[in-house]
Amino acid sequence: MADAPITQDVLTIPRKETGGLRPLVGLTREQMREALIGLGTPEKQAKMRVGQIWSWLYWHGVTDFDMMTNLAKPYRAMLAENFTLERPEIVTRQISEDGTRKYLLRIAGGHEVEAVYIPETDRGTLCISSQIGCTLTCSFCHTGTQKLVRNLTAGEIVAQILVARDDLEEWGGLPTDKRKISNIVLMGMGEPLYNVDNVRDAMKIAMDGEGISISRRRITLSTSGVVPEIARVGEEIGCLLAISFHATTDEVRDKLVPINKRWNIATLLDALRAYPTLSNSERITFEYVMLKGVNDSDEDARRLVKLIAGIPAKINLIPFNPWPGAPYERSDWDRIETFGRIVNAAGYASPIRRPRGEDIMAACGQLKSATERARKSRAEIAAETQT
Ligand code: SAH
Ligand code: SF4
Repeated sequence: MADAPITQDVLTIPRKETGGLRPLVGLTREQMREALIGLGTPEKQAKMRVGQIWSWLYWHGVTDFDMMTNLAKPYRAMLAENFTLERPEIVTRQISEDGTRKYLLRIAGGHEVEAVYIPETDRGTLCISSQIGCTLTCSFCHTGTQKLVRNLTAGEIVAQILVARDDLEEWGGLPTDKRKISNIVLMGMGEPLYNVDNVRDAMKIAMDGEGISISRRRITLSTSGVVPEIARVGEEIGCLLAISFHATTDEVRDKLVPINKRWNIATLLDALRAYPTLSNSERITFEYVMLKGVNDSDEDARRLVKLIAGIPAKINLIPFNPWPGAPYERSDWDRIETFGRIVNAAGYASPIRRPRGEDIMAACGQLKSATERARKSRAEIAAETQT
């Protein structure tokens, strides 16, 4: 829509010099304990201090040590001399006509990263990023055209949640189902399984019951299929798993999700069948982007259900979200529905994901930092889809 009521605030907060201070957000309880002991906190007190600080950081959301009123003044001063509580800077916040909010955040080194808040009737989902850019080059994904890549630290991953909670004014102890942010999906920029340690630490912090307290079953990690790391999601994080499947033959998947050349469909499915927490109540989500004439035939739908037979699963059909220069088109709505009916008749839930925040380029696969300049040309992208 040409004149949709999009608001865009440019909130450029003057950046304080952090002077080499260590970010406190993102340390696990154990790391924080060690750090405090290293700074002279008696071992016997360290656990209690961690508990106090933890609740200020992740329950109350404070950004100033002076607000930690149950700590003695000299102790607060000691913390302030060694740590920073600084949030990433919100460069822009765009609000879509459907209520979706896209945050562009500036983190250390001047890099930019995006997080998207999607309100729904029964939940509110925050979609967060795990990397700046992505080393993988899925041909339908905008993030994959961004060359600059670095892993986000655990602190930078958690900070996306903190910034969104600041913005939505949601601190304190509401029960999860009353919260604006009730769910988290790792479906923003980046491949989370190329940054598993930091993603794990960040999600442990998000799940901690004395802080942000989002249960493991309200967190979903999406991967393009980094097979050797998949089991760790169940074992070390315990959250739900989504797989960017998108094709039913290796020939097509090689083009859409090039990591398939390394770990093909059969190898990926073996890893999923062996997934530790697999059960009917913790089904794996198969994400399937609907690309006109590429992967959306009846035959594809039938092949899909055959391939995943025996895996407790849900199929999320994602209408392709276009971006400038994308070499694909979205499947027609009828086609998506017919595909969904075939999958559904085989006993799998097959919800069609309603595109959200399209007017602000916040939908799946549209994320890409605005200032990122090293773009691939359209020709390069098109060439990759042909190989
Ligand atoms: N790297 C991870 C997580 C981020 S992508 C992964 O690939 O799973 C999040 C989801 O958006 C993935 O399923 C991805 O395939 C999908 N996606 C990417 N580009 C898209 C686009 N242009 N339209 C619709 N979905 C897209
Ligand atoms: Fe990376 Fe996921 Fe995009 Fe593929 S779909 S390029 S893995 S962010």
